[in-house]
Amino acid sequence: MRHLAYILTAVLAWGTAPGARAADWQSLPASAYKMKDMTASLPLPAAPAAEKGRRLVCIDPGHPNSYSNGLTQINGTNETRINWQVALKLEQTLKEKGFDVVITKNAELQSVENKERALICNRSGATLAVHLHCETTPGSGYALYYPDREGTFNYNNDPDIGYKGPTPPVIAGSRLLAQAVQTGMRAKLAGLLNDLGIKGDSHTQVGANQGALTFSIFSQIPTLTIEMAVLTNKHDAAFIKSPEGQQKMAQAIASGIQLSAR
Ligand SMILES: [Zn+2]
Repeated sequence: MRHLAYILTAVLAWGTAPGARAADWQSLPASAYKMKDMTASLPLPAAPAAEKGRRLVCIDPGHPNSYSNGLTQINGTNETRINWQVALKLEQTLKEKGFDVVITKNAELQSVENKERALICNRSGATLAVHLHCETTPGSGYALYYPDREGTFNYNNDPDIGYKGPTPPVIAGSRLLAQAVQTGMRAKLAGLLNDLGIKGDSHTQVGANQGALTFSIFSQIPTLTIEMAVLTNKHDAAFIKSPEGQQKMAQAIASGIQLSAR
C-alpha cells in the first residue's frame, strides 16, 4: 500500500508544484481534480498491532480535510506537503528508535476528516498520537497544543454532534506528552526555531469554539498537536521546506516522544 502511496504522491506532485500560487491550483484542469478524488478514495490505513515490546505511535499529517485542504501556496510550499514530508521522516526516525508507527493516511493528498483521524489512532492500538501542522499566524517558531479541558463536538452535519471528550486521564497524559516533546524539541531545535510554548487547545480557533480540537475530543490516548513552524514567516518556511530542516524537526519530535515513553 505504501508503494502505491508513493507512486500516487509522485504522480500528483505536479498539481502543487513548488512555486505554484493558490490561483494556479484553482485553475488546474478538471483532470487534476479527478486524480485528487482518486487519492480520496484510497482505503484508510490498516491498524497494525505493535510488535511485542515495541510501542506504537500514531502520526497524523494534518490536512486535507473538509475544514481546510492545506493547499494554499505559502512561501513556495503548502502546509499539506510539509506535514506529509515531515511525517514520513518522523516515521523513519521513530522506527530507528524502536517504535512502531501508524500514519492516518496513505498519500499526501488523501483527505481524512478530523474525527476519523482520532478514530484511526484509537483503533490502531497506539499509545499516543501526534498531529503535525504548520501555523500561518504572525510570529516565528513552533508551538504545542494539548487538550486542557473536555470539549463538545459541534459539527452540525455529523451524527456524533454533542460527543464530549477527552477524559481526564487523556487530558493528564496529553499534558505530560506535551512537556516531554517540548523538552526534546528545545534541545534539538535551539538556535534554529523559537519555542512558542505549550498551550491549551482552547487557544486555537476550533478549540475556542468546542473547548478542544476535534481529534482531541475523540482521542482515547494522549494526543498532541504540533504547529511545527510558521509557514508565512520566511525564516521558518525556509527551514521547514528543506530536507535538512525536516530531518531536524523529525529528530526533535522523536526525541521528545522517546522521553515521554520512559
Ligand atoms: Zn493545519
